[in-house]
Amino acid sequence: MKASKFNVIIPIDDKESLIFNTFSDSRVIANRSVIKAIENCDQQENLSNEQKEHLIQLCELGIIREDEIDEDKELEYWFHRLKFDSKTLNATILTTMACNMDCVYCFEQGVDSNLSMSKQ
Ligand code: SF4
Repeated sequence: MKASKFNVIIPIDDKESLIFNTFSDSRVIANRSVIKAIENCDQQENLSNEQKEHLIQLCELGIIREDEIDEDKELEYWFHRLKFDSKTLNATILTTMACNMDCVYCFEQGVDSNLSMSKQ
């Protein structure tokens, strides 16, 4: 097992962290024991039974992945499906670039923030 490369771990306080997987869109609040299980998921012989059970649940959420899964290929497939699948149309209406949410995983930072849709 391995931790997904799309995990973003955001500390909440000294006991808990938010784990956000930017690919599966899963969000989990985890205590230190679970974070330690994720960090050591490739050495399961050092984990408690409870930690191993957590890893199985995290696997279902895409936060933990099987070793043979190539996440780069999955992402590439996902992009290609969006690009070439004509069954559905996905549209994003971007009303402004002036977002002030300041998400830690944002890749829009540095993009011109003065752009907004006109009222008409
Ligand atoms: S990811 Fe970036 S653009 Fe999206 S809400 Fe967060 S800060 Fe705003």
